[in-house]
Amino acid sequence: MTSYDYDFFVIGAGSGGVRASRIAASFGARVAVAESYRPGGTCVIRGCVPKKLLVYAAHFHEDFEDARGYGWTVPAAEFSWPKLIEAKDREIARLEGIYENLLVKAGVTLIRGRARVADAHTVEVDGVRHTAKHILVATGGWPAKTEIPGAELGITSNEAFELKHLPRRVLMIGGGYIAVEFAGIFRGLGAEVTLSYRGSEILRGFDDDVRRHLRAEIEARGVRVLLRNEVVSIERHGAGLRARTSDVDITIDCDCVMFATGRMPNTAGLGLAEAGVALDENGAVIVDAFGQSSVPSIHAVGDVTHRVQLTPVAIREGQALANTLFNNRPTTVAYGNIPSAVFSQPPIGTVGDTEEQAIQKYGRVEIYQASFRPMKHTLSGRAEKTYMKLIVEPASQKVIGAHMVGPDAPEIIQGIGIAVVAGLTKQQFDDTVGIHPTAAEEFVTMREKVLRGF
Ligand code: NDP
Repeated sequence: MTSYDYDFFVIGAGSGGVRASRIAASFGARVAVAESYRPGGTCVIRGCVPKKLLVYAAHFHEDFEDARGYGWTVPAAEFSWPKLIEAKDREIARLEGIYENLLVKAGVTLIRGRARVADAHTVEVDGVRHTAKHILVATGGWPAKTEIPGAELGITSNEAFELKHLPRRVLMIGGGYIAVEFAGIFRGLGAEVTLSYRGSEILRGFDDDVRRHLRAEIEARGVRVLLRNEVVSIERHGAGLRARTSDVDITIDCDCVMFATGRMPNTAGLGLAEAGVALDENGAVIVDAFGQSSVPSIHAVGDVTHRVQLTPVAIREGQALANTLFNNRPTTVAYGNIPSAVFSQPPIGTVGDTEEQAIQKYGRVEIYQASFRPMKHTLSGRAEKTYMKLIVEPASQKVIGAHMVGPDAPEIIQGIGIAVVAGLTKQQFDDTVGIHPTAAEEFVTMREKVLRGF
């Protein structure tokens, strides 16, 4: 029998890789994980976690204003970006330590360095070869910039977390998750923000009513949104930057251009194609339902497979793979009804079909909607509105989609997501007593039905 140095060699200590290694080790596998940067991966080091801390920071701006309506006298507030970044860095370092500890406690060997797959059972880390029965590629993704002249002058989310100063004027390119989240962060912290998006409405793939509602809200907060607009070049201009756009009349002078134009799988230089691993046109590892690549001993989970780019999904994929390989329990991941959130200001929470998807599937659907001023703003005076929507499949009466834009939407939709995954009907929603006074109670008190579709 061939003997390997390890049963499982994991490349990348991010959300998917860490979960897969810990669980595999708990089943008795001898596991090593190689990490070239910092344990924790994108989510912990320069993604979800620091992003949410920045979102909290940005929100104080509104909170101070709103407090006045409640009798508070708030002196002129001052904000220090360096202090925020320093505090964020401390927290990220703490979490990184926790991740490292988790691995060590699980008995996983952490190898620092850049790994490369040498063959179906060998990984080379900085010149040292390690053999393993199974190899897991969990190297995540990397922000992609569009190829325009001067792109090198722009930053991505990676650098946004490390900026030395808060830019005074920001141009955001893209209309997806990262673009709207960072537009909200920079705007909340006091920057002038322009968002340029090539499509006709931001957040392609989300429910159309949600997309329109959020755009109106972010515009009301002072973000200038340019639709059907493409940034075609960036050049230095005085102490700042000048961006030209597809609209010859629109030239944008700013201090920072940020690309939020998608993330691509991190497979360059990994030696995968040479080892016979099939990659798609984006460089993503092509895997089957069990995370296995075209080379049976090489597997992949998370963003490097370019499917659903969400941490909880990568974690599930990692857990499933460990079960499949080391617990004698072949496990797949269910990709339907994945709740997700956009931490924009206000945030979005969503689960299940959008109205457009539901109409595609079922032809005709029942829509229930609510749009109202959050109670907090009756005294604060803020004009913000919350939007909520349920989509019901007429024949089964099941709620197949739930969407919300407004304060606490991600927290609320997590709970509603359980009901949607469980396949509950509109009647079962209505049978549930609301919690008063909350925004969430609207989800069990919507009575007015509109039929949409054909
Ligand atoms: P998204 O795919 O969400 O958005 C990319 C945006 O860039 C889209 O608006 C897209 O336009 C635009 N774009 C892409 N290519 C070009 C181009 N060549 N020229 C002009 N515009 C372009 O990616 P993000 O970078 O925002 O985030 C990456 C992923 O990370 C997300 O998809 C999400 O899965 C995950 N993420 C999740 C978060 C969360 O859960 N809260 C937060 C942040 C990221 P178009 O729509 O026309 O294609």
